Amino acid sequence: MSALMPTYAPSDLAFEKGEGVYLYTADGRRFLDFCAGIAVSCLGYNHPHMVKALKDQADKVWHVSNLYRSPGQERLAQRFVEASFADRVFFCNSGAEALEAALKIARKYQRDNGHPERFRVIGCENAFHGRTLATIAAAGQAKLLEGFAPVIDAFDQVAHGNLNEMRAAITDKTAAILVEPVQGEGGLRPAPEGYLQGLREIADEFGLLLMFDEVQCGMGRTGKLFAHEWAGVIPDVVSTAKGLGGGFPLGACLTTEAAGVLGVGNHGTTYGGNPLGMAVGNAVFDILTQDGFFEHVTQMGKVLDAALHSLVEKYPTVFDETRGLGLMRGIKLKDAIVNRDFKAGLEAEGLLVAPAGDNVIRLLPPLIIQDAHIAEALSIFETVAQSYV
Ligand SMILES: *Cc1c(COP(=O)(O)O)cnc(C)c1O
Repeated sequence: MSALMPTYAPSDLAFEKGEGVYLYTADGRRFLDFCAGIAVSCLGYNHPHMVKALKDQADKVWHVSNLYRSPGQERLAQRFVEASFADRVFFCNSGAEALEAALKIARKYQRDNGHPERFRVIGCENAFHGRTLATIAAAGQAKLLEGFAPVIDAFDQVAHGNLNEMRAAITDKTAAILVEPVQGEGGLRPAPEGYLQGLREIADEFGLLLMFDEVQCGMGRTGKLFAHEWAGVIPDVVSTAKGLGGGFPLGACLTTEAAGVLGVGNHGTTYGGNPLGMAVGNAVFDILTQDGFFEHVTQMGKVLDAALHSLVEKYPTVFDETRGLGLMRGIKLKDAIVNRDFKAGLEAEGLLVAPAGDNVIRLLPPLIIQDAHIAEALSIFETVAQSYV
């Protein structure tokens, strides 16, 4: 531990293996995982289809670079095109890189369309887009920017959900709008009714690209491949990652034909979309797009939502409210209780969750959970809640 840069303050738990929705420590303790590596392990652990895909590919070739054709990328890109708004896909290794590609696309799109003066991107307060210099500036949160001045001066933020503020923030330098359809780190805030449609109208009116950060809320997390589908809106650019590789580091930036402005020499990645990653990505995609899979996510999301509402009702001095979409849920604690302490309490009882902004506990279980897992999580929540009343 001591040689590590202390960028995290991890709990003392170290896991040795996982099976389904459970993780196990070396000394055999079992934990119900409603964190899923922060919405990454969407099919849980040791999923036979994923393990087989990875092992089979491991025996063939791991990496060749993008100097050679990649059948795995071509296949997964085509599957995305068939299943979404997209016409073009760029593969990378993480969420931040998927956003970086989107931000470069915003500038080049405007340049190619005769507006080199348009380079600014308007996003939302409490957003999270990654930890690179550009993505911390895009999110604009003080806690992310502290220590890293000067901030890249190309981003503006307005209140999430407020169309008037968005409209008022547009200038002749604005290139794009960048929004998480469901804010994750910021505290599990789904877009209010009509918000994404309103953003589409504004983007069209001013000639801006509408870009969604679906790194966390995409890949089936909300019960559709992408969360923006619930609003029936067609974006220009979507960045995704987390669940895409189910635990293998993968990201993707998807665009329409018109926004597919990156050509030879404009952008690149050494590892992005390598054969090992694409074998796993295609395997994850196989499962997500199976008949009934998203319906299952939606159904489990409803059950989890009902369970969390029952907690808020039963322990009004502990919980403030619950919000979210699909299997991306948050429960906000009363101010007197710190979410990280409550999370530690859950952990001691065998339940893993993630903290989020606004004193929220974030529940991001593997999408394969069943009713019994939700019941088990609920009972652990009750045990810990009782210790606070
Ligand atoms: C996690 C996340 C990112 C950053 O992804 P990394 O893989 O950590 O770079 C960006 N946007 C959102 C919405 C995220 O949840």
